[in-house]
Amino acid sequence: MKNNLLIALFASFIVACSSSIDIVQNSNLPKEHLIFLNDGLSVNSKQMSEKILFPIKYVSFPTRESLLPNAIRAYRNGIHEGIDIVANYNTPVYASLSGVVVVANSSYKDLNINQYNEFLSKTSKIKKTPRDIYTHILLGKYVIIDHGFDFVKGFRTTTTYAHLSQLHGNILSGASVKKGDLIGYIGNTGTKYGAQGNNAGAHLHWEMHFENTDNIYYLGQNIKKKQFIELTKKIFERE
Ligand SMILES: [Zn+2]
Repeated sequence: MKNNLLIALFASFIVACSSSIDIVQNSNLPKEHLIFLNDGLSVNSKQMSEKILFPIKYVSFPTRESLLPNAIRAYRNGIHEGIDIVANYNTPVYASLSGVVVVANSSYKDLNINQYNEFLSKTSKIKKTPRDIYTHILLGKYVIIDHGFDFVKGFRTTTTYAHLSQLHGNILSGASVKKGDLIGYIGNTGTKYGAQGNNAGAHLHWEMHFENTDNIYYLGQNIKKKQFIELTKKIFERE
């Protein structure tokens, strides 16, 4: 009897632990949702204090599933938490919102392809992308900007700009930036092409995160492709 009770308690503990991160495949979600979690938490576009500037000029919104949030990244055993914007090498990249620079990683040097593949092999052993490999190897040269708690009430919002060829000289940790300020240039650092020493595969990997006491969530989390594409038209402004 006692054992059965313990098993029941353990089973409910497992359910409680996993329920908040299950992917919701609900096509009837309200259209304005930026993220949706099945523990009842959602953030929608009406909670945004302003529109987000699309960080690259003169390129279209990506619509291919592989370029959008929630795409499977089998090569690193992870899930894509951002948007990939393909453009020519050294295309300028602009801040999506005003804020303060948290990370300005301009010193990253691409590994050689053997070292790069060695790190990827670790992701397959652990069946996920460890945070350190993600931030210190796979993002390459990158910038994170903190937008404070006003963009969406109750959440600290940040944006990430990764795989840059170089950072703009004024972009240093602690620097204030305004929406539309130049922060760097498109490249392929942190990708396999960077590790191969060529200029192929250039793109901006852009992420927006919302953090509260309990967790950190990404723009588009649990939002299906079609809804996300409609959402991008609503929430982004174009220069
Ligand atoms: Zn990406």
